[in-house]
Amino acid sequence: MSPARVEGTAQGVVRVRARVEGTVQGVGFRPYVYRLASELRCSGHVLNDARGVVVEVEAGAAQVERFLARLPAEAPPLARIERVAVEPAPVTGETGFDIVASPAGGEPSAAVSADTATCAECLEELFDPADRRYRYPFVNCTNCGPRFTIVRGVPYDRRLTTMAGFAMCPACAAEYEDPGNRRFHAQPNGCPACGPRARLVGSDAEDAVAAAAEALRDGAIIAVKGLGGYHLACRADDERVVAALRARKHREDKPFALMAPTVTAARTLVELGATEEALLVARERPIVLARRRAEAAVAAAVAPRAPELGVMLPYSPLHHLLLADVGVPLVLTSGNVSDEPIVYRDDEAQERLAGIADGFLVHDRPIQTRTDDSVARAVGGRRLMLRRSRGYVPGSIRLPLAARRHVLACGAELKSTFCLAKDERAWVGHHIGDLQNFETLRAFTEGIARFETLFAVAPELVAHDLHPEYLSTKVALERGGVELIGVQHHHAHLAACLAEHGEAGPAVGAVYDGTGYGSDGTVWGGELLSGDLHGFERVGSLHPVRMPGGEAAIRQPWRMACAWLVAAGTATPAALAAAVDAERRDRVTELARTGLASPVTSSVGRLFDAVASLCGVRHEVNYEGQAAIELEAVCDPAEDGAYPMGGELDARPTIAAIVDDLRRGTPVPAVAARFHNALADATADALVRLGAEPIVLSGGVFANRRLLARTRALLERAGLRMLVPERLPPGDGGISYGQAAVAAARGS
Ligand SMILES: [Zn+2]
Ligand SMILES: [Zn+2]
Repeated sequence: MSPARVEGTAQGVVRVRARVEGTVQGVGFRPYVYRLASELRCSGHVLNDARGVVVEVEAGAAQVERFLARLPAEAPPLARIERVAVEPAPVTGETGFDIVASPAGGEPSAAVSADTATCAECLEELFDPADRRYRYPFVNCTNCGPRFTIVRGVPYDRRLTTMAGFAMCPACAAEYEDPGNRRFHAQPNGCPACGPRARLVGSDAEDAVAAAAEALRDGAIIAVKGLGGYHLACRADDERVVAALRARKHREDKPFALMAPTVTAARTLVELGATEEALLVARERPIVLARRRAEAAVAAAVAPRAPELGVMLPYSPLHHLLLADVGVPLVLTSGNVSDEPIVYRDDEAQERLAGIADGFLVHDRPIQTRTDDSVARAVGGRRLMLRRSRGYVPGSIRLPLAARRHVLACGAELKSTFCLAKDERAWVGHHIGDLQNFETLRAFTEGIARFETLFAVAPELVAHDLHPEYLSTKVALERGGVELIGVQHHHAHLAACLAEHGEAGPAVGAVYDGTGYGSDGTVWGGELLSGDLHGFERVGSLHPVRMPGGEAAIRQPWRMACAWLVAAGTATPAALAAAVDAERRDRVTELARTGLASPVTSSVGRLFDAVASLCGVRHEVNYEGQAAIELEAVCDPAEDGAYPMGGELDARPTIAAIVDDLRRGTPVPAVAARFHNALADATADALVRLGAEPIVLSGGVFANRRLLARTRALLERAGLRMLVPERLPPGDGGISYGQAAVAAARGS
């Protein structure tokens, strides 16, 4: 905060103007200022404008100084103050303190806050039969409720949200206008008399949630309109209905998320450490991946072959009611067909989910921005985000080097996000999904346009991946009148991790993932990089092999197994020979040998695929990363041995040793663990030898708990300072932010 130069009048009365920036709208900031000013007997006013909150206070110099000291220190829980600028103002002699209306227009850049889980006070009202909001599925207040998903523009006022169509009844209006009330200027405020209503389509039940709960208990699949989109819900303990949901959704293996009524119920499903439990109850309410309990009452079809379950707690009053009524954990998975984005428009939902859902629990508050649930897990007592979306977005993340010109960063292709930046602030958009079809492309471009409006960013620099075929690259190239900045994929991973920790480099890093376009035109994915936000050097990489048949090798790990067998000069192990007939293997082996239609890759993700297939764990995948996830899952936790690999990251002797072990009949859990250990040991060796700090570990492969934990432990033992992604995913969801950090560094 810049110190106020407080110049008084003869009577010692002064007036100052304080501009507060950050997440300060829609979080109860103005009533907080009102109460503070009243307590300190300051006169003046507070208002929201397009850049944040403006406060003018007038009182004795000591009172004003006390006010300015307490203003940031005692701010409400959801507020995030980034800057307070104070300047003197002429004394007016006004008495009393007012909250005044927002001025229209101006340059909007005020932070809109993220959607926040129902607070304790609202929950009490929800379940209190004497309360006028008893069982009202849309109860909220200044400390909780929908925000980002209902905002249409800034400043954050009801008329610029999807609540604009609901006129408050006298009781709600009185709360809204009373500075002493918890709902003072709570923009989504409403009640059963005036606010949104829930409805079970095709039923005239008075209590739609109770009726939906009854259907769910009886084994129905219900589409439930939530905060950021539609979910598909069913009992998690009913094998038949979960299998039906899987079949109707055309989703073969990818695990379904669960919602448990309470933390106690969640504990019966998964083992929760302190970090996991903290994540689970956090107001962002992500889905938390944790080890499933053997006795968990969950149908096998929820998460076939996965050792973990994704569990979340209710985060909206509608969810609280529904879960309390059903009384057992529900499957709550994105309302979509296979890999399309989550459905959020009512007409679209009825059309697309008609073949999946037996019923629709809907409401009449429109969702402005589609937002998926966030996903996180804990590794070694620290948070690891796998998908950053509902609850976190659109919170800004700082850039270590300010963007002097406004930046748009378009990200990569899988698990796509975009990022906008200006000055030292960056806004990473909600999770869009895999940018591979018209639906996701539309969500992507609409999302960019919305963020440009919300945060008043007019991009002059547009950063993109080097891959010429990515739709995100094409979106960047199609924008006219801007300066384009191509950022190598793994450099973006390195930069994202550095930047979220407030660092600009230099650093060294291991960046491991499935696929990224290399500066030399080959497919990278097992990279040792040395660099900073401006640039990088490739100082090492996994020994390259062929990807027989190109993209086909991503869907069919057995092809990568053939390629690695060729590289290692080793014969085919039994599991692979049994799974794929000799003629197909010979054809693919020939591709690997000649390189025909088979690009060169140094991808660690593909190495995991190869090992999974050699071990007979998985020969074909149904979703990105499946083979690696299942290989990690089978690891023997007690196995400490490691295969040879060496600091040059040459996995040929590793593959030879794996095949030897398998031939000797070594159990697959031991083989899988020794492979993980080999990669961790080799990575740590290589990084220690590079002899620089800090060390970055990033890329989607580091979502692997075992690999990350062992690599981290080795580097800690070597006394090296390490940076690991925490606020953004290590995978491609973090790429856009890294690109923005690079563009900011290069463009200024
Ligand atoms: Zn509340
Ligand atoms: Zn009302």
